[in-house]
Amino acid sequence: MSTSTYDQLCRHVRQTAVFATIESLLYWDERCMMPPRAAAFRAEQAAQLAGLIHERQTDPRLGEWLNELAASPLAADPHSDSGTTIRQLKRLYEKKTRLPRSLVEELTQAAVLGQQAWQAARRDSDFAAFAPHLERIFRLKREQAEAVGYRESAYDALLDDFEPGELCSHIGAVLGRLRDALVPLVAAIVESRRSPPVEILHRHYPREAQERLGRHVAACIGFDFHRGRLDVTAHPFCSGIGPQDCRITTRYDESYFNSAFFGILHEAGHGIYDQGLREEMFGLPPGEAVSMGIHESQSRLWENLVGRSLAFWRYFYPQAQQAFPEALADVPLEAFYAAINDVRPSLIRVEADEATYNLHILVRFELEVDLLQDRLRVADLPGAWREKYQSYLGIVPPDDRQGVLQDIHWSGGLVGYFPTYSLGNLYAAQFYAQADRELGGLARQIEQGEFTPLRRWLREKIHAVGQCYTAAELVERVTGRPLSHEPLVSHLQAKFAPLYGLG
Ligand code: ZN
Repeated sequence: MSTSTYDQLCRHVRQTAVFATIESLLYWDERCMMPPRAAAFRAEQAAQLAGLIHERQTDPRLGEWLNELAASPLAADPHSDSGTTIRQLKRLYEKKTRLPRSLVEELTQAAVLGQQAWQAARRDSDFAAFAPHLERIFRLKREQAEAVGYRESAYDALLDDFEPGELCSHIGAVLGRLRDALVPLVAAIVESRRSPPVEILHRHYPREAQERLGRHVAACIGFDFHRGRLDVTAHPFCSGIGPQDCRITTRYDESYFNSAFFGILHEAGHGIYDQGLREEMFGLPPGEAVSMGIHESQSRLWENLVGRSLAFWRYFYPQAQQAFPEALADVPLEAFYAAINDVRPSLIRVEADEATYNLHILVRFELEVDLLQDRLRVADLPGAWREKYQSYLGIVPPDDRQGVLQDIHWSGGLVGYFPTYSLGNLYAAQFYAQADRELGGLARQIEQGEFTPLRRWLREKIHAVGQCYTAAELVERVTGRPLSHEPLVSHLQAKFAPLYGLG
């Protein structure tokens, strides 16, 4: 009885996932290929498809099947494939059906208007023009949290959309310890007054050579081009369109090496995760990524832990010199390595280095928690932003365009998203340290261009596990201890102490 119910459930959910991949393909096409006049009709296509998907996700039969199955032997082991499928789908179904349709529509509308207002406000550096929209968005997000419910604080309900099962109190404690270690580290780097030769990175890097090297390196670390593509967009992304079809994008800047190169490594890291999911579980929770933070850990691991290491460049630097003889022929490896690891406090999150990046996230995370809990008024946000930049990074934005108005997230209703970037860095460092122990010295393998052992380890321990464990459980299972700030802090100290002559 319950076996056939289970089959029905899986068939229904898998079909919904197929529709969702069509949505992804439309989105990819819109960003990479679509002619400008096609936008209005594309919006109609996307809206029809979104309506269809929503209907399938809230189909009352799903609720009946899931209630029946939750009491069946198939759900007995919560970490088995069937147990995971039932547990996760039930969670999602209940969350979706608890949200009143009127609130969903109001949120969608507030996000569209919010983004329009934000674009104008950022252009004019006029926070007051954006403030009423932000107030409305946070009010609606509070309503959303109350509607879906939470364990400790309203923020938990929002965080749950990106980092399922996580609690604000838990990540707040870990991120707080990270902040307390990073602030003095960054200050010591600034005080060292060493300035790597970053001019090297702004020489002329022909686009074709960038693309050739980027594709080559992505393939070397394990992005499978038979099951994926690399294209060009203004805002790079990675989109899994089906089990054998993963699309990544980048942008090329001929006068800045880092932009495309590290962008490709980052997106290829996301892509390798998608390509490592179990194909036979496509569309079901055991075949899907755990969380935004874990997804980000895979991109940061390849981009930073591997791609900005000396071992990596011991192997690839001769190839980079060959690709860009004009820019790099006279540059020693050590100078290049120092340049790509330049640390300096800046105002703009997306351009931040490995050491300061998380402080940008801390500012946003702390402020959005305060806004949501009414401990901070929207009108006081720009001032609070400046104070935090001063105390964490020692710099203050001259205007709101370079301050509180720089990110699109809040204007589009994304509250609870920012911490996943830092969680990604924390998970990445903790996974990398464990892989290093288990695989017997990754640096030695990496400097010989051997990336397969690490990729296989990630696939077995993380990718193929899907959602059978939450992010917190996965970290503990893979590394033997709960999430901690220590592996990331140790990595940053070990890397930057020699580069900046720190004691
Ligand atoms: Zn990413």
